[in-house]
Amino acid sequence: MMLRTPTRIEPDSHHRGSLLVTWNTGGTFSVPYFELRFECPCAVCVDEKTGKRILKREDISADVRPMGVNSIGRYAIQIRWSDDHSTGMYHFDRLFEICESAGKKLTD
Ligand SMILES: [Zn+2]
Repeated sequence: MMLRTPTRIEPDSHHRGSLLVTWNTGGTFSVPYFELRFECPCAVCVDEKTGKRILKREDISADVRPMGVNSIGRYAIQIRWSDDHSTGMYHFDRLFEICESAGKKLTD
């Protein structure tokens, strides 16, 4: 089975404030920065024991944006956010779920 991996991650030039994510398995999604920031999976944002989200929407700046994206091995990306938060590792499986739930699918 082919591992699902993003082949392209870049700002969506047609939709300000969103990230364009293209997958090797097909599909390009436009995901709002705000939603991606809200879905941060780190221990500061999500209670490790209960899995409940600690981070609230009202805690996030409406104009939050990524300052940088790093690859973590072949399985995740780490996003450095404009609010100085960078502890979240977005595993590709989770990133794809966020694309499907919070993003807009542009192409198959
Ligand atoms: Zn976090």
